[in-house]
Amino acid sequence: MKRLTDLQFDNRFARLGDAFSTHVLPEPIDAPRLVVASPAAMALLDLDPAEADSEVFAQLFSGHKLWSEAEPRAMVYSGHQFGSYNPRLGDGRGLLLGEVLNDADEHWDLHLKGAGQTPYSRMGDGRAVLRSSIREFLASEYLHALGIPSTRALCVTGSSTPVWREKQESAAMVLRLAPSHVRFGHFEYFYYTQQHEQLQVLAEHVLSSHFPACQEQAEPYAAMFREIVERNAELIAKWQAYGFCHGVMNSDNMSILGITFDYGPYAFLDDFDANHICNHSDDSGRYSFSNQVPIGQWNLAALGQALVPLVSIESLRESINLFLPLYQAHYLDLMRKRLGFTRAEEQDGELIERLLQLMQQGGAVDYSLFFRRLGDLPAAEAVQVVRDDFVDLIAFDAWAESYCARVASEGGSQQARRARMHAVNPLYVLRNYLAQHAIEAAERGDYAPVRELHAVLSRPFDEQPGMERYAERPPEWGKHLEISCSS
Ligand code: AMP
Ligand code: MG
Repeated sequence: MKRLTDLQFDNRFARLGDAFSTHVLPEPIDAPRLVVASPAAMALLDLDPAEADSEVFAQLFSGHKLWSEAEPRAMVYSGHQFGSYNPRLGDGRGLLLGEVLNDADEHWDLHLKGAGQTPYSRMGDGRAVLRSSIREFLASEYLHALGIPSTRALCVTGSSTPVWREKQESAAMVLRLAPSHVRFGHFEYFYYTQQHEQLQVLAEHVLSSHFPACQEQAEPYAAMFREIVERNAELIAKWQAYGFCHGVMNSDNMSILGITFDYGPYAFLDDFDANHICNHSDDSGRYSFSNQVPIGQWNLAALGQALVPLVSIESLRESINLFLPLYQAHYLDLMRKRLGFTRAEEQDGELIERLLQLMQQGGAVDYSLFFRRLGDLPAAEAVQVVRDDFVDLIAFDAWAESYCARVASEGGSQQARRARMHAVNPLYVLRNYLAQHAIEAAERGDYAPVRELHAVLSRPFDEQPGMERYAERPPEWGKHLEISCSS
């Protein structure tokens, strides 16, 4: 295991040059202190978890110190925000510090968010607040633990530096890890500024660094786009199956790797509501829960447009048309697993649709706990336990009868069914009110709650004695928290 000072860098993106990013030094925050670190994320860099307790750790992740091999850069990109093209975005408050090469020969981008102003800050102060940094940290590590691809988070560093949002808050930094920070918007920037040579340089970089298998194909860029479509279809299927609302699916917040990227006012559904809008500035509901599917495809079309100089329109179209069927297949597969089925049957789609319609009617069904409770007991008993939460009991009983028949047709023991279901249905859910409790404590200088919440959520499927309060249904007020979009 390594010490922090032993990290090795290989800064491939920085080497692309000044057309792609600008050298900027981090601007330190005052009196830095470690709020929370992720041992699992540290392991990606082969770091000894004890390094988190060293003084140099908080200094490196608060802009006070830098590895001599690091090359901090602000990346340029643009993108479609709420459907309109914004020609110039870029890293306004985050810096790509460099790419760490680990013992497994993997490159990991070190991205420090909240590192001060850059040429892309526009009117912003270049900072991130403690609240939003904790939210990004918790979500990154929780989605990963659920099996949903995401950027990772190494740590959050707090400070005494004041930051003004709706009220005065304090600045923090979150250290984000990902194999790449290239977004759909990177390609859009070079396409719309008509820098087609640079567009190709970027495509070549992404292809050789992240899609090496596509290089063997007859049309490597076309193959790469197709794989980006496939990965995003699978990612969004996972969001929908687990009730995750991203909230700001602008094309600059979409990763070319098909991983969840840029956390804002996200939410996991408490009660099931297909129309849920977690972002309070999303007046039209463009990014509502159920719209995430068509918006995913819309964003892929925006990326496809930017690739027109490199890939034939027919091929782009063909790949975009794969999105919905691929999404549907992944979604059905995940929902079957959540319901405990081991094989596919023709009527499964209808069974799932009926269940969601019953949940949509209201009542007291908790979307996540429903699946967990369903696996606890044999199907016939479990449906009786969850029954009372539904509104239309006659329709529920009809559904339950179909479900129990479907379970019986599978055979197998309840013990095996329970183990199978509990391995995919989390007991612990990152609910907004749980994050809010931890944030309020951290704002008072007490980091124990956020550390405990992170630890519990890093094993969401395992019953953890003494942690029952994290597995409870949310209180009514907790379901209606307004999460500030400012960050
Ligand atoms: P986001 O809403 O976080 O995805 O950010 C959208 C764009 O605004 C990106 O280009 C960010 O870098 C930039 N941005 C967001 N907040 C700030 C800030 N406080 N200072 C400077 N730029 C920011
Ligand atoms: Mg963003």
